[in-house]
Amino acid sequence: QAKAAGRSNFRIFNEDMLLQANNRLMIEQDIGSAIAEHQLRLFLQPIVSIADGKLKGFEALLRWFHPKRGLIMPANFIPDIENSDAIIEVGNYVLAEAVQLLQRLKHKDWGELYIAVNLSARHYLAPGLAEYIRSLLLGNGISAKGLLLEVTEESVIEQVDKAMEVMAELKALGVRIAIDDFGTGYSSLSYLKQLPFDVLKIDRCFTSGIQENDADTHIVTTVIDLAHNLGRTVVAEGVESELQYEFLATAGCELAQGFLLAKPMDEHRIMSVLDSIHDSRRWPREDMPSLL
Ligand code: C2E
Ligand code: MG
Ligand code: MG
Ligand code: MG
Repeated sequence: QAKAAGRSNFRIFNEDMLLQANNRLMIEQDIGSAIAEHQLRLFLQPIVSIADGKLKGFEALLRWFHPKRGLIMPANFIPDIENSDAIIEVGNYVLAEAVQLLQRLKHKDWGELYIAVNLSARHYLAPGLAEYIRSLLLGNGISAKGLLLEVTEESVIEQVDKAMEVMAELKALGVRIAIDDFGTGYSSLSYLKQLPFDVLKIDRCFTSGIQENDADTHIVTTVIDLAHNLGRTVVAEGVESELQYEFLATAGCELAQGFLLAKPMDEHRIMSVLDSIHDSRRWPREDMPSLL
């Protein structure tokens, strides 16, 4: 009987692997035309200054509108290409789109808005990144302050010396850097101290526990204090409630991002929302459902 169970486990394992391999193959095959045919689109999620409610910028979140498979979320294709050079192609496309978006946002007269772009480790460590970004900014007449690059702890910890070098190059350009999903990876505080990043993003898994459980609540306040002691700015990700927002305000967290403020939206929607709340320049926390 044990043998039978063993065999059936083995079979299930293989089918699962086959499905995964098949999915990966399909993605690898389709990603090239996805870029060429503009099936990949940047959605933007607002990032708001907690103290005064001002809109500061957006995070660019990739969406794949596949002609046969419909909408594919990044979690369902980014991990499949992260270990191949396709991630560099996709990342460069996202950077180019973000810089062009910044140019269109300039006309909105909303002040200096930035776009945060997620970079996979392989892309972050690939040669020529800083030069590519420099030429994009120059070619489009965009200030380096308009771009913020989000990297994860993994990107900077696996090859610390190289990561440090790249960060210095990017900083020299004037581009800012955020450590994304902070607390979910395995960074060490001694590296954190040495890396010249600007922003620390508290992962949604901690934000969601604010005043729900003591551990997450303490982690959030401690991480905010740690970041401030290192001279960094903090963004709380995944802010969904007024309670979390108020707590973060009291804890001194500078910026918030989450469904309380808005879900990621396409450019068309972002532009019309910016037009409709042009007067106050304050991002609304209430009535968002009617706005979106
Ligand atoms: P991330 O960079 O940590 O982005 C935040 C994710 O949390 C986004 O998911 C966003 O839609 C979601 N989110 C934001 N606020 C809330 C909230 O209040 N509640 C909940 N439940 N979720 C919220 P998304 O768009 O599915 O992206 C998932 C991940 O995919 C991103 O996590 C990022 O790691 C990766 N990703 C997205 N776009 C790109 C890209 O252009 N390049 C690369 N390399 N990775 C990307
Ligand atoms: Mg991110
Ligand atoms: Mg994140
Ligand atoms: Mg995340």
